[in-house]
Amino acid sequence: MSLEGTYDPQNIFAKIIRGEAPCYKLYEDDDTLAFLDLFPQSYGHALVIPKRSAARNLLEVDTDALCRTMATVQRLTRAIVAELEPDGVQVAQFNGAPAGQTVFHIHMHIVPRYAGEGLGKHAAGKAEPAELEALQARLVKRLQATA
Ligand code: 5GP
Repeated sequence: MSLEGTYDPQNIFAKIIRGEAPCYKLYEDDDTLAFLDLFPQSYGHALVIPKRSAARNLLEVDTDALCRTMATVQRLTRAIVAELEPDGVQVAQFNGAPAGQTVFHIHMHIVPRYAGEGLGKHAAGKAEPAELEALQARLVKRLQATA
């Protein structure tokens, strides 16, 4: 499955939206959901997805859902930067397997970057639950404080 294809409602992010799979949730509103990446490329790597859009990628997503997703990306990026104080932050989005996409429900990556630290391998190396739980608690608290 790559740039062109049919949306698979059994993809892992669709399951997370439906509550059929767990996630370390950071933020949720009527249109968007944000949670920690299970295989983080840096400390604080988070994902933001539209909840109501059965779109695999940027080409398919409706503009309104995209705008709402980006509003959550900005909100979360501000909280991540305030809480974790990285030296930089990447916001990324991949379309099609050759571009690096591995989950085919559109999502935005927020990847904090720390000076002198390289980027971990994409979608590999599962984080420890205790680390994700602690990170989730910090970021949720920060988001609530800045709401
Ligand atoms: P993509 O490769 O499609 O741009 O990004 C998919 C992201 O989802 C990867 O960074 C990968 O680590 C992450 N991921 C894959 N499976 C899961 C999962 O079950 N839960 C969470 N939270 N993240 C996942």
